[in-house]
Amino acid sequence: MLNLAVIGDPIAHSFSPVVHGAALDALQVPHTYQKIRVAKGELPEFLDYAQKHGIDGFNLTMPHKTDILPYLDWIDPSAERFGAVNTVKVKEGKWCGYNTDADGYAAALARIGHRFRDSRVVILGAGGVVRTLAQLAVNKEAASVTILNRTQEKAEAIGRLLEQQGGCVANCGGISAEELCHACASCDLLIQATPLGMHGTGMDFADLSFLEYLPQKAVVTDLIYNPDVTKFLAKAKELSHPTLNGLGMLIYQALLADQIYLEREFDMDAVYDKVAEKIKR
Ligand code: NAP
Repeated sequence: MLNLAVIGDPIAHSFSPVVHGAALDALQVPHTYQKIRVAKGELPEFLDYAQKHGIDGFNLTMPHKTDILPYLDWIDPSAERFGAVNTVKVKEGKWCGYNTDADGYAAALARIGHRFRDSRVVILGAGGVVRTLAQLAVNKEAASVTILNRTQEKAEAIGRLLEQQGGCVANCGGISAEELCHACASCDLLIQATPLGMHGTGMDFADLSFLEYLPQKAVVTDLIYNPDVTKFLAKAKELSHPTLNGLGMLIYQALLADQIYLEREFDMDAVYDKVAEKIKR
């Protein structure tokens, strides 16, 4: 029996139990998967609980992806580079940290036939996930990375991180209409990584006309999966751009985590279809 969990705060609306449950059922792996609210600062108590209750591994969401780092016995090199961990596996009593978010996004993009290489990437937002995706874009040899964020300093901090790592010049800015239009005019891959348009937040873009500046073949992705088509994606579809919502990333990062828990590879595309079908129901 594989005993797993997801921790975070808030956690009530997490899709992780459904996604991992569907994947492990498809793989016929007996398992439990708990959803546990762990507030910021409560990681030591949770780790104590996990040890006492024989938890074999757990996924982490806000606000723990960075806070977990000092507690780990071993960190996978890519997770160390991203400065964030979303998967912990217990191996011989040791806490081992991994990050499957980046490869999850890359796999979802590949599934619709697109890639980072040689793309001019524009990212909206500068939170935890952007730190990871911006580094992924550089690792995968994007032609350029532009990060636009409400708080411009946060975009600039990620830009400095990319430049320190070398290999790519990052452009950073705010989210004025002028900055959005200018960035979109030279963009092959647009990634919407803010909660704008997410169900239940009551927040959305006031004006989406900046999307009209995108070159015809630009791919438009939104990390949000609820609703499955945000107004942002609907406008991109209306303009005939290839689009992708956040469900693909959600599923692939979970499948990659399950490969870590199980210590074996499986046919992710076959399991993906079963998980996506279950979520739709
Ligand atoms: P985060 O660390 O909280 O960052 C949120 C970002 O959104 C910040 O840059 C913030 O700007 C910006 N923002 C928030 N409210 C805004 C508003 N009203 N107007 C403009 N900008 C606003 O979150 P995160 O972890 O990076 O996640 C970002 C998004 O990606 C979320 O929607 C999350 O659900 C989604 N996500 C999806 C997946 C998936 O598997 N599909 C995985 C991870 C994340 P400031 O810096 O100015 O505050």
